[in-house]
Amino acid sequence: MIEKNGVVLVLSGPSGAGKSSLIHKIDKDIGDYYFSISTTTRSPREGEIEGVHYHFVSKESFVKDIEEDNFLEHAIVHGNYYGTSLRPVREALSEGKLVIFDIDVQGNMAIKNRLGDITTSVFITPPTLSELKHRLENRSTDDKEVIDGRIKVARREIQRTSEYDFIVVNDDLDIAANVLRQIAITARLKIPHDKINEFVQQWEDIE
Ligand code: ADP
Ligand code: 5GP
Repeated sequence: MIEKNGVVLVLSGPSGAGKSSLIHKIDKDIGDYYFSISTTTRSPREGEIEGVHYHFVSKESFVKDIEEDNFLEHAIVHGNYYGTSLRPVREALSEGKLVIFDIDVQGNMAIKNRLGDITTSVFITPPTLSELKHRLENRSTDDKEVIDGRIKVARREIQRTSEYDFIVVNDDLDIAANVLRQIAITARLKIPHDKINEFVQQWEDIE
């Protein structure tokens, strides 16, 4: 059972869509939040730091965490395991924080099923597939084979945008950041079902 004083903001979208860049832009404007650091079996990219970008673990360690029920959700993306650890999310929610996830479409569905009443979800995408390819090539963090794989997954993921509350097209970074800033601020106003029921009961009692 998860105590739900906080709220959740799910960000999904193809690798290279600009999720990290956008979060970085709005970081100072959205109040106290906890960015969920996922655990993954993929190798660190150049510049990525253990415990900041991800917890990088072996497949054996990841599978052990699955068996011990330590994940809120987990999925295989681009052939690697990715998962959201339950404990820090539970803590952040009980402290009333906005909890931000950068997870894929499978993760979004899992979070929707478990925490749907406090979750706002956003699909972030560059304006076109060719722009996505261009950005991945410019980022220079992945080789051609990896980029091709990511493009393939992106074509599949874009078909599932209707599962999200909002779509943010990241064409101009400042404009997209403005939209995301408003969504993040509004996400805090979500009220869980049990709190609504409490309110209705109190409302009926007071005459
Ligand atoms: P993600 O976190 O979704 O994988 P990044 O934030 O790493 O994506 O962005 C991927 C690349 O695209 C980076 O090199 C970034 O500087 C660039 N980028 C992000 N947003 C824009 C934008 N609106 N216009 C042009 N380039 C962008
Ligand atoms: P990348 O390897 O580019 O950092 O991430 C690849 C994909 O995995 C992205 O779509 C990202 O949102 C997703 N991802 C990262 N962490 C998690 C996680 O904990 N769970 C799920 N389901 N997806 C994740």
